[in-house]
Amino acid sequence: ISQLQTPPWALVNGELVPYTDVKIHIGAEALTRALSVFEGVKGYWDTAGEVFSIRTPRRHYDRLRRSASLFHIPVRFSYDQFLAGLEKLAGELLVTDKDLWFRPTMYVTHGHWGEATEADLVVTAFSQRKLDPDPMRLGVTSWRRASDLVLPTRVKSSANYVGARMARIEVRRLGYDDAIMLNDAGRVAEATGACVLMVQRGRIVTPPTSESCLDSITVDILEEVAKELGMPFDRRPIERTELLAADECGLAGTISELTLVSELDGVEYDQTGLLAQLRQRYLELMRGDLVLPGVELAPLADVSRQLL
Ligand code: PMP
Repeated sequence: ISQLQTPPWALVNGELVPYTDVKIHIGAEALTRALSVFEGVKGYWDTAGEVFSIRTPRRHYDRLRRSASLFHIPVRFSYDQFLAGLEKLAGELLVTDKDLWFRPTMYVTHGHWGEATEADLVVTAFSQRKLDPDPMRLGVTSWRRASDLVLPTRVKSSANYVGARMARIEVRRLGYDDAIMLNDAGRVAEATGACVLMVQRGRIVTPPTSESCLDSITVDILEEVAKELGMPFDRRPIERTELLAADECGLAGTISELTLVSELDGVEYDQTGLLAQLRQRYLELMRGDLVLPGVELAPLADVSRQLL
C-alpha cells in the first residue's frame, strides 16, 4: 500500500469528489489541534478473484464512533451510511487484481475548544497488491508511546502518529523496517502502525490496551481465531527483555495482517511456528476460504454484489 497513490476519487460526506480537489481550511481544528480520528479498513478479493468483500465494517464503524466520542466530535452518519460510502468508493476505485485499503477520516472542520464542533467524513482508498510481505526487522526506539493520561492511546487519532513517526524515522536511520515502542513504564506497547504478538513456551501473548496500545481489531480477530483453533492466547504486560527472549514475534494490524518479525535488535525469531499458522488462517478467513463460528465477519459478496 502506498498513500502516495493519487486515486481519481475520494468521498466527502457521502459525495464523490475528485481526490485532488478535497480541501480543508487552514483554521480547522483538524490542523490547529490535530483533531482528526480515522480508521484503516481492508477489503479483500476472494481466492478466485470473483467476489470482493469488506469483512469487518461494523467493527471499524464502532471504533470510529468511540474515537470521535472521546474527542467530543459529533458523528452524524449511521452505520448504513458509512458502509454505503465504502461501497460507493470501491465501485469507482476497485481493480480486479488488487485489494483495497480504505481510510475513513473525520476531520474537525468547524468549532473551537469543543464548542460547535463539526467534522467532515472523508474516505480515501488505495490499492494493495496481494503479495506476501517479507518478515520484518525491528529495533526498539528511544521514543515512548504516550500514556493514557497524556493522549488517549486506545482510540485511533492522528495525534498519536506524531510520536510514531519520530520512532519510525529513528529506527529506519539505523537500518530497521519498523520500531517497537515502549510505554511510559518501559514495557512493550506496540509498533508504529501495528500491535505486537509474541510466542513464549507455546502461548501467544499480546499486551492489553492498558499498556498504551491501540484497541486493535486485528488482535481481536486473531484472538478469536486462536481460541477456535485451540491455541493459547493471553493478554498481559510484556517486558522488553521478554520480547527479546521470545520464540516468535509478529505484528498485527489491518494492513500488516499478521506479519512475521525476523529479528529485534539483532536477536532472531523462529518464523515457522504458531504465528505463521495463525497468519495463514487469518488470510483464509478474510478471503472466505475458512469459516469459524466464533469469528463474526460480514458475509462474503456484501460489496461486489453491487459492483458486478
Ligand atoms: N497500532 C497502531 C498504532 C496502528 O496504527 C494500528 C493499525 N490500525 C494498529 C495498532 C492495529 O490496529 P487494527 O488491527 O485495528 O488495524
